[in-house]
Amino acid sequence: MRTILLGAPGAGKGSVAKELNKLYGSVQISTGDILRSAVQEETKLGKKAKEYMESGDLVPDSIIMEIMEVRLQEPDCKKGFILDGFPRTIAQAQKLKTIIDRLNIHLDFVVNLEVPLDVILERLETRRTCSNPSCQEIYNIKRNPPAEGGKCKKCGSPVIQRVDETKEAILNRLETYNSKTAPLIDFYENEGLLKNVLSLKLPETIASIKKELNS
Ligand code: AMP
Repeated sequence: MRTILLGAPGAGKGSVAKELNKLYGSVQISTGDILRSAVQEETKLGKKAKEYMESGDLVPDSIIMEIMEVRLQEPDCKKGFILDGFPRTIAQAQKLKTIIDRLNIHLDFVVNLEVPLDVILERLETRRTCSNPSCQEIYNIKRNPPAEGGKCKKCGSPVIQRVDETKEAILNRLETYNSKTAPLIDFYENEGLLKNVLSLKLPETIASIKKELNS
């Protein structure tokens, strides 16, 4: 399966991608996860990306495309991929199209995860993330809390609130989404690839995506 997950921050892209991976054996590529690891490990890329990320702005297209050009050609992508958080701008989508054509592959479809704004705000404010760069498991303090002492159930590292999940940064991320990423919905509609799926409860969302895949 080769697909893109579109949706506002908090729409559930990460959780949906993990479930689809289990079902289809494809690889999840999250530019957010790649960038967060780089920031924590203080690499050259991390140093460039840190400020943009903390304020909820997008990292420049040139940096993202440098990462994705390489990532999409790694051998595990032969199993298929689920792009989570990429592309985020029309320029990224156009460059992705060029890469895909050059690799002589095609996208199966693009899923747009739809969620009402009040649900998004509640999800983001209650979301917590494992601080281990190679884990980044997601929790929710109400519905899926971490283990005792705020530790990750998978790797035991501290589970934290992301710096970009303060109220101010969340509002900026949503504004950035509306102005820069939402236009991708029309872009992929015009490409004939778009499927809109309601993303409220994970099992129902996955069932809807499976139905779309089989239709
Ligand atoms: P995410 O985990 O997908 O919400 O991404 C967290 C942050 O990483 C975003 O708010 C951006 O600052 C940055 N980021 C992730 N993916 C991209 C992308 N494709 N283009 C630009 N910035 C990105």
